[in-house]
This record gives sequence, C-alpha cells and structure tokens, in this order.
Amino acid sequence: MSKDFRLLVKNAKQVVLVCANGEKFLTVKEMQNIAVIENASLLGAELEALAISHLEEVTNNGIAAMARAKSSAILLPTTAYILRLKQPRARDMLDAGVIVALGSDFNPNAYCCSMPMVMHLACVNMKMSMKEALAAATINAAYSLGKSHTHGSLEVNKQGDLVILNSSQWEHLIYQFGGHQELIKFVIVKGKVVYENDRTVDY
Ligand SMILES: [Zn+2]
Repeated sequence: MSKDFRLLVKNAKQVVLVCANGEKFLTVKEMQNIAVIENASLLGAELEALAISHLEEVTNNGIAAMARAKSSAILLPTTAYILRLKQPRARDMLDAGVIVALGSDFNPNAYCCSMPMVMHLACVNMKMSMKEALAAATINAAYSLGKSHTHGSLEVNKQGDLVILNSSQWEHLIYQFGGHQELIKFVIVKGKVVYENDRTVDY
C-alpha cells in the first residue's frame, strides 16, 4: 500500500467519522479532495464498508480486498449504459467471491427506476447470468443495506415483498426487456397487494 493511499484512507476515515457524527457537511471542494480516489474498492474494503457503489474502475487487488472484507459491490448498469462508461467487471468480481448487488442509480444521468431493465443490462453488458442478476437485485441488495436478515428473499419471518408475473417462467422478467408493464400482474409489499395490473399480455 502506498504512502499516498494510506494518507487518503486516513483522511477518508476522518471524513466518514465526521459525517457519521453529523457534525459537518463537506463543501464541494473538500469532497473533491477526498474524491481523488483511484481505487475506491481498496478504500471501501479497508474501511470494511458494507457497500461500495459504481466501481467502473477497479483493480485485481481491489476485487480481492472486497471479497475478503465482504464489502458488497453495487453495480449500476443503467449508468454505465447511458454515460457510455466502461462496464464494471461483474464477472471478475463474481468469480472472486465478491457479493455483487445491482442498483438503478436513479438520478438525472441514469433516469430509470426499472429494476427489470437494470437486470437485463447486467446480463447483456456485464455478462451476469439471470440467476446472478436476480440475486444481485434482491438478497444481495438487501445485504448491502444491512437488511438481508429481514428483506431480499422469500423466507418465513421475512418481509413479504414480491411480484407475481403473468408468465410461465420467471426469467421473462429479465428477458422481456422494457416489457415489465405487460408482465407484472401483482406487486405485493409486506404481504399486501399494492398494485394490480389488468393489462398484462398473453403471448
Ligand atoms: Zn451514482
């Protein structure tokens, strides 16, 4: 580890502590000083962060450190697509045992809330399997928020959040891109139907 990097980690830790105490919000200039982090994966792992987002740039050492620290990688396929960024190395991370989660990164430069679309892009552009994408969008995303014991999978004593599809195969949720409105029949939150769609399409 270089001297510069150690210094950066020390500074970032102080910033994280300051923010956690709620004592100070950083100015843009201060953020820029901290944001000159070439290897966020190493820094996140050093801080034992539960989640590290974006990761379009990552080294092999960073991937190994994340796997060791059990820091989840939040990959953002819509952002990489819209901004034409280098695709995050999802396959290398998965093969190294990193907990990979998917997010929409909803913001003005990735104006998409659709997790089916996110999963689709993860499969096509990041070469994840559909099962990996589903796990990344559900249980691993819950892990990244420290909520995998109560959310993210259908298990007794967990919160009943799910969708019911008008399809014989769940994979259509990813495969049928842009088609979730003709596919999702019910959305259930905490065990209660919050959305019912009578416009699903039979193919
Ligand atoms: Zn972002």
